[in-house]
Amino acid sequence: MALMAGSATGETSELQVAAPVDLQRFLQEVRGEALKAGVSAATFERATRGLEPDVQVLMLAASQPEHVKPVWEYLDGLVNDARIATGQQKLVELADTLAAIERAYGVDRHVVLAIWGVESNYGTAQVRSLATLAAGDQRRSQFWRREFIAALRILEEGDVTPERMTGSWAGAMGHTQFMPTAYHERAVDFDGDGRRDIWDSVPDGLASAANYLKAFGWRLEDPWGFEVILPKGFDYRLSAPGNEKPASFWRQAGVERPGRVPVRDTVSPLQLILPAGANGPAFLVTRNFRAILRYNPAEAYALAVGHLADRIAGAEAIVSAWPTDDRPLARAEREELQKLLSERGLDTGPPDGIIGRQSRAAIRAFQRISGLPEDGYPSLQLLNLLRQAGRAGRE
Ligand code: CA
Repeated sequence: MALMAGSATGETSELQVAAPVDLQRFLQEVRGEALKAGVSAATFERATRGLEPDVQVLMLAASQPEHVKPVWEYLDGLVNDARIATGQQKLVELADTLAAIERAYGVDRHVVLAIWGVESNYGTAQVRSLATLAAGDQRRSQFWRREFIAALRILEEGDVTPERMTGSWAGAMGHTQFMPTAYHERAVDFDGDGRRDIWDSVPDGLASAANYLKAFGWRLEDPWGFEVILPKGFDYRLSAPGNEKPASFWRQAGVERPGRVPVRDTVSPLQLILPAGANGPAFLVTRNFRAILRYNPAEAYALAVGHLADRIAGAEAIVSAWPTDDRPLARAEREELQKLLSERGLDTGPPDGIIGRQSRAAIRAFQRISGLPEDGYPSLQLLNLLRQAGRAGRE
């Protein structure tokens, strides 16, 4: 649930640091607000006494990747033999707990295990890292401040001690990496000891993840999605965001699962995603995929969780090849792509290097004019074409 970490889709947020970070001043400022939110003076003092800024956290937050990892490298790093084997071992060891969680929340046990498997970043003291970010990250200070106070409220409730309350540098905590505000809303006590302990209790951690997915619409009848093979001459406009259709629509469009298996019916409508554009694997995803995206908004993350879940359940690897000779555009290149498109009258919005809906629509429009598959994917090939077209236009 590292909401602020760089995503494999290139949708990252910039950190603006006020240097030097004045943590004491921040703590003085925030104290009243924390007490009003129900944190006792004793808890506040205990959690913040002698607290110093964590320079490492600011460095991590500032180092948003200029060169984004290709989705296939991200998947290889997260869905590997060791993680699959551990997941399968846990599937047996925790069979009773997982069955109880599946009954209680209606969320597939393999997906719960996969979230646990993918979220593996522990070790930073939460109060310190959140206070540092609240004091140091100018642009998102309100966000971190809210999470900081939520973290103090967790301490106030006595579910965990400050020493045990560790997690990732970006503030996510425990086995399944909850942000403090999400903890208050969604964490559950599943082992019945009266504490919502997502740090030391595996049942609490896994059930909390299931409860979170359920809250965002998980349906046990449906898979997260599945790989599909697109027919020759496929109309890539159908991969536009928001184009949700029933299985019958996709079957009629000639879409099949690998091995010529028909696309199965699902309760949720299905959307087509192309994580690496028209030259890479294609997936039809249900709204369960969206529930995973609520955990972390990067498409590559949700794909890693879904695929790891499938593999834990014994399914095969992804069949279609990734376009490994291509690479994702660096931030400066994405900005250049946006500028070149806007110069051609295809408005991408401000050239901020974030390829959102508007940029994708502009890419599709350029692909349509150029007679290319309209996948909306910002490839290097596309950038080069725009550069050439720009030069030709000026000559
Ligand atoms: Ca508990």
